[in-house]
Amino acid sequence: MTMIGLEIHCQLTNLNSKLFCPCKANYREFEINENICPVCMGLPGSLPRLNREAVKKAMIIAMALNCSTPEKIAFFRKNYFYPDSPKNFQITQLNIYGDTSVGGPGSIMVGDKKIRITRIQLEEDPGRLIYEGSSSKNQITLVDYNRAGTPLVEIVTEPDFETPKEVRDFLNILSDVLTNLGVADPSLDGAMRADANVSIEGGKKVEIKNIGSFHDLEKAAHFEITRQESLHSRDIEIIKETRHWDDQRKITVSSRSKEEELDYRYFLEGDIPWVSIDTDTHEKLKLEMPESISSKKERYVSKYNIPAQVADVLSSDKYYSDMFEKAHTESNAKEVANIITTELMGLEDTREKREASKLTSVHLKDLADAIKSGNVSRNSSKNALHEILKTGKDLSIVIADLDLGNVSDESELLEIIKQVISEEPQAVEQAKSNPQTINYLVGKVMQKTKGKADPASSLNLLKKQIGLS
Ligand SMILES: [Zn+2]
Repeated sequence: MTMIGLEIHCQLTNLNSKLFCPCKANYREFEINENICPVCMGLPGSLPRLNREAVKKAMIIAMALNCSTPEKIAFFRKNYFYPDSPKNFQITQLNIYGDTSVGGPGSIMVGDKKIRITRIQLEEDPGRLIYEGSSSKNQITLVDYNRAGTPLVEIVTEPDFETPKEVRDFLNILSDVLTNLGVADPSLDGAMRADANVSIEGGKKVEIKNIGSFHDLEKAAHFEITRQESLHSRDIEIIKETRHWDDQRKITVSSRSKEEELDYRYFLEGDIPWVSIDTDTHEKLKLEMPESISSKKERYVSKYNIPAQVADVLSSDKYYSDMFEKAHTESNAKEVANIITTELMGLEDTREKREASKLTSVHLKDLADAIKSGNVSRNSSKNALHEILKTGKDLSIVIADLDLGNVSDESELLEIIKQVISEEPQAVEQAKSNPQTINYLVGKVMQKTKGKADPASSLNLLKKQIGLS
């Protein structure tokens, strides 16, 4: 049996400042080495001060993943010498004096399968190494400390995954949960990174480090399983080792470093006292937590009668569910959900398109109301949506500009129907003997009105004219 366990590093991208100093958490907007201070550089005499919001956000994540949360949390120094760490240690958490990490054991359902979470810890991100030069021999290593000290949450799972697909499904769910909580934007470059442990039946545990994206995590697991199975089939021993993910070549490579847990010489961080989290804070955080994805889904189905599949898609994406919440009313909820899931999601499928879109929740509400009242046919609403995304004009103006208003005047519609009947005598005869074929004539009416006629009233009028009702 294949066993895969994950360690996911997730930056708390929505915070204002770093974990222990006032530098910005959003280091991406700075020039190289401009977002630094004596604290995150570890200069002598500087003292860290814990970011309270970061603790809250990490606890919210722990609660959302059904993890236990301790009454006291503690921080530790993990010592290592590497140029990405200006202090030569990282402040992190460790469960050595009891469970003092921000989250204890928990679990998350992936389909019918329960994936166990071992623990969640809050720690600081190191700086970033930049390699310049063409070949590995002529490379110059530069370092950018803007990221050093950024708040990071590490989520450790038990080795409960059996296939790379399960890994992918879990990551998709986790990514939606974190976005929904408003703690992180997993789509930002480098915001989610991971290590994975992979072992096959009869083999040893191999750790893969340095996987820079969720997309690559699935690939790395897949590559590693294939590599180990190939060794196993040739009776070559699989050794316990650490490998690195080479994201250029998309393979894992044996890594020369042989750091063991003990080498880090963990000890309590004396500059940060233990933090007590009382019951009140716990309760308050629970109340402040955004509605969960599953609760949203249930509400959409039970309150608005939205089909389960549509509710599932809508609730799991924060961007669209926020838009739904703002745009819907008791009466148009189903229509708003329909426009979002069948049209909008296709039109705004990238971050760039979302950012460029001029559509507001008011547009969406107006459009749903117009479809419901019959002012715009569903067909024409697609054209209107395209135009609004581009221009941001009011729906009424778009309808007038593009002449999208429904042919709602019955006498006008009747004229068109009479025309169709005179042009299609054969189809009319056929419809009389086989009423189902009347849809062909409805199609002709829609064609002549450029999709602006209401199909139901067209059908009724057609039937009357032909003498079917
Ligand atoms: Zn700083």
